[in-house]
Amino acid sequence: MHYFDYRLGELYCEEVPIKKIAEEVGTPFYCYSHGTLLRHYNVFDHSFEKVPHIVCFAVKANSNLAVLKLFARQGGGADIVSGGELYRAQKAGIPPGKIVYAGVGKTRQEIISALKAGILMFNVESSQELLTIDSIASEMGVKAPIALRINPNVDPQTHPYVSTGLKENKFGISHTTVLEEYKLAISLKNIDVVGVHKHIGSQITMVSPFVDALEKTIDIVEKLKEGGINIKYIDIGGGLGITYEDEAPPQPNDLAKAIEPLLLKSGCTIIFEPGRVIVGNAGILVATVLYSKKNDDKTFFIVDAAMNDLARPSLYNSYHGIAPVEMEVNAREKIVADIVGPICESGDFLAKDRTLPNYKPGDLMSIMSSGAYGFSMSSNYNSRPRVAEVMVNGDRFDVVRAREKVEDLVNGEVIPEYLE
Ligand SMILES: *Cc1c(COP(=O)(O)O)cnc(C)c1O
Repeated sequence: MHYFDYRLGELYCEEVPIKKIAEEVGTPFYCYSHGTLLRHYNVFDHSFEKVPHIVCFAVKANSNLAVLKLFARQGGGADIVSGGELYRAQKAGIPPGKIVYAGVGKTRQEIISALKAGILMFNVESSQELLTIDSIASEMGVKAPIALRINPNVDPQTHPYVSTGLKENKFGISHTTVLEEYKLAISLKNIDVVGVHKHIGSQITMVSPFVDALEKTIDIVEKLKEGGINIKYIDIGGGLGITYEDEAPPQPNDLAKAIEPLLLKSGCTIIFEPGRVIVGNAGILVATVLYSKKNDDKTFFIVDAAMNDLARPSLYNSYHGIAPVEMEVNAREKIVADIVGPICESGDFLAKDRTLPNYKPGDLMSIMSSGAYGFSMSSNYNSRPRVAEVMVNGDRFDVVRAREKVEDLVNGEVIPEYLE
């Protein structure tokens, strides 16, 4: 459910014609719907209203300050994976007491910043990291609240690059040895054991992997209880999938039905880390068609957006719906074509072998479901300034990140004197 639809033959976001934004902002740009973001956040939050919980939005899915602020205003927290994300979360006014910090490679400086901020907990991914956090906390004269991230060895049945809870993945501590690590954690003076964490992957379209992983997690919580260690927080991670093409992922409500009894029985406060499910379908990428060309039998539509703006097709071969901004384009003859960008890589495509209307130079095109892992994964490859981000709310729109200028591209670069 999202607020991008056609009115009088034109694509709108809420009350604003996409064409109007394109005229004022130029293309490419990301467009986020405030109403959709709010709705998705609230649907998720309400699905688990019977369970004491905190929704910690996964900042890496969409890190724009305006998006983070919107969730902060709803009482949301943040799931962060770097010092940069900590900075953003704080800047957006997310209370440190609602920030959880995962990631296998937290640096000393990042750990210091998080301890200074007073985050809810570190989701610790190895015993060396645990010892490092303990020693830094000791130097600072504080106690570090931690959960251990369990690797439950559960197959999320998703793309291998976004599977994180299999034993061959780098994440977490094996569920077979995690009790030993908890013993170590308890013995450390500057560590406060408050939780257990798991996150098994992304774009998961079935309930069963969540249930399997949660059962293994709760098993650990019970064993800890038997050993006299009472856990306050169970962090079940994120990973709920969305519809890009024809997937039929469980709705937050379906997930709630399946796991609520387990969650309630635990007696713990539950932390959720949804990313994609909240923002994925709340954003689109708008591009302009530059050219079309035919090489033998193959037709290409070349647009002004590229893999540096939206990496998912190149990275995961993922599908994004393509829609014209002016509906009349759909009436044209159909051809099978690739949509590609200007980047000098054959992997630079946004869609492959699609049956599309015959786009002409100047047509506006919307790449749907681009709100998650879109701008946040974008880069400056080929020295392309990163695109603008826009948020629509009702009949107004605001540029929430200005398009980069070419001058921004060389920010921080220095030519040594001897080359002058
Ligand atoms: C990426 C990530 C998430 C969010 O995943 P989604 O599939 O976007 O919901 C949550 N928790 C952790 C630890 C992550 O790395």
